[in-house]
Amino acid sequence: MTKRVTILGATGSIGENTLDIIRRAEAGTYQVVALTANQNAEALAAHAKDFNAEFVALADPTHAKQLEALLQGMKIEIGIGPNALIEAAKRQADFTMAAIIGAAGLEPTLAAVAQGNHVGLANKECLVCAGEPFMAAVRESGAVLLPVDSEHNAIFQVLESDQPKGVKRLILTASGGPFREKTLEDLQTVTRENALNHPVWSMGAKISIDSATLMNKGLELIEASYLFNRPSAEIDVIVHPQSIIHSMVEYIDGSVLAQLGSPDMRTPIAYALGWPARIAAPVERLDFTQISQLTFFAPDLVKFPALRLAREALEAGGCAPCVLNAANEQAVAAFLAGRIQFLDIARIVEATLEREGRSRQFSCAPHDVAAIIATDASARRTADDHIVTL
Ligand code: NAD
Ligand code: MG
Repeated sequence: MTKRVTILGATGSIGENTLDIIRRAEAGTYQVVALTANQNAEALAAHAKDFNAEFVALADPTHAKQLEALLQGMKIEIGIGPNALIEAAKRQADFTMAAIIGAAGLEPTLAAVAQGNHVGLANKECLVCAGEPFMAAVRESGAVLLPVDSEHNAIFQVLESDQPKGVKRLILTASGGPFREKTLEDLQTVTRENALNHPVWSMGAKISIDSATLMNKGLELIEASYLFNRPSAEIDVIVHPQSIIHSMVEYIDGSVLAQLGSPDMRTPIAYALGWPARIAAPVERLDFTQISQLTFFAPDLVKFPALRLAREALEAGGCAPCVLNAANEQAVAAFLAGRIQFLDIARIVEATLEREGRSRQFSCAPHDVAAIIATDASARRTADDHIVTL
């Protein structure tokens, strides 16, 4: 049977890797329902034509004319503006890849969840900012949430979810990013280009910066806590520079189960797209005779305070993770625009958490999406204030 697939964030790194898997499948395996993008009308139109999509949605209206011109005469419906992304996510699909970056993906992803079908979750920020209501929406609709983030996909593969009491801890592995071996002093002068140059993974700009600060691992810690219903104390982070073991689960009998593979997102994408069946992914195979060593060490929370801040936000609960995420998005955008230095990113997140925590004690466990969006907006304003006064 043909699987109807929608990709939210189709022009990004995860979106295009998903299209790559679809392209290689036998004709008739998939029908592309809807594709979305923020600004890149050209790539969106090209993918829509290649995959004969039914509907395309572009969030930013300034590129609407260009998209319409590119798709003129084609039988592809076009939607413009943030509501069009929600419309895309509501179109009946058996599988939706949620691959928008940032909290901007929250509402479209929730609309996909409401369908009650399969959702591949790459967009970790939407779970970080709205963990409890997001998981409640998943339970309510009966959707199957398939983690695409490689660590969470690894845990999903090895977690005996019918034995929650048998699980002792989750162990998230981290590559350590491009600055793993730098000193705190070195970090004062690293550039945008240095930070974008990840040693192992090829990814979009925002997540590459998050990997360099280790905020990515912090967001993943929060993501794991909500996805697998585990407190902070039962989730460890360990640096594993080779990125061969993608994460592990330790059981109470001392067994540790791990998922291994080449560092290529097409493996977790294929796992989610095919689930419960295994489907082929064109990734490099592991050659154990060539792997000389697998090494592990504890992360340095002094050099990389973002990971400490994320754990503190998870433990504070309420809206603290939402504030952390919003402040980080603003700070990373400012760093990418050349407005702040690398070490300022975590400083801005910390200052925003302090100021927002003072005024609201994070007690506002946000239950509805409107409350989350308001918290997110307030935290962004606070972060922006800190950015301009640096
Ligand atoms: P990317 O920057 O390459 O692509 C982001 C996509 O989202 C693009 O299609 C873009 O048009 C769209 N988008 C951006 N801003 C938007 C907005 N405001 N409104 C609507 N659409 C918007 O990002 P990516 O690297 O593919 O990451 C996507 C998500 O997957 C992120 O949440 C990231 O953390 C997660 N993830 C990515 C990787 C990876 O290898 N790239 C690995 C694990 C998890
Ligand atoms: Mg990851």
